[in-house]
Amino acid sequence: MVKKISHIGIAVKDLEKSIRFYEKLGLELEAIETVKSQKVKVAFLPIGDVRIELLEATSEHSTIAKYIEKRGEGVHHIAFGTNDLQDRLDEIAANGIRLIDKKPRLGAHNANIAFLHPKSTHGVLLELCEENK
Ligand code: ZN
Repeated sequence: MVKKISHIGIAVKDLEKSIRFYEKLGLELEAIETVKSQKVKVAFLPIGDVRIELLEATSEHSTIAKYIEKRGEGVHHIAFGTNDLQDRLDEIAANGIRLIDKKPRLGAHNANIAFLHPKSTHGVLLELCEENK
């Protein structure tokens, strides 16, 4: 089942400046990590049960760099927390919804993640996220 919002991914140009902004609002930085496969540096700031995930490109070939070039900084994706991610992906595909990732891949925070195709989600990039605890 899709159980909750796991995190909200926000594309930013400058991770340090963006972290300072959220800290001024009272959020606390939990961790920064680099996800080489996605060419991003990621910062997590929890707010309640949800995390803000700030994403800074580490290469001009990163999808985040391309996103910012086209649309500027802003909300990039929403991640739903789930379990049994492969089963969820199979169900979703069987329902005629397009997937970017047919198989889970490793994302930040040691979580398995997969993206749904925005052409199937009414314009929102949705991520499913299975956190490994
Ligand atoms: Zn994410």
